[in-house]
Amino acid sequence: MICKDFETRIPYFLDDKLNKKQAKEFFAHMQTCESCKEELRIQYLIKEGTLRLEDGDSFDLNKELDLKIEKTKKAIKKRTIANMVIYIMEAVAIAAVIFILILVFTSR
Ligand SMILES: [Zn+2]
Repeated sequence: MICKDFETRIPYFLDDKLNKKQAKEFFAHMQTCESCKEELRIQYLIKEGTLRLEDGDSFDLNKELDLKIEKTKKAIKKRTIANMVIYIMEAVAIAAVIFILILVFTSR
């Protein structure tokens, strides 16, 4: 992913609208690119900061962004584990079918 792609995805990330693949690429670039990480931080501060100022809440936005990133990463991981479980179950089901077929054919 290039920096320009990252920048276009920032609003989608902030609105929780990235799919799993997009979020993965997003974080992968963020880890290697300091300037994009900084850009994300700035856009988050602008977006959330404006909302909070209207509400008059006190806030620690830097920490909140880190939490948001962690939450999204966990969601990706969770879905990956779920996918793995489905994959294993499918493999077991296929193995069972093959086993049954072997039994049927060898018993004749
Ligand atoms: Zn970048």
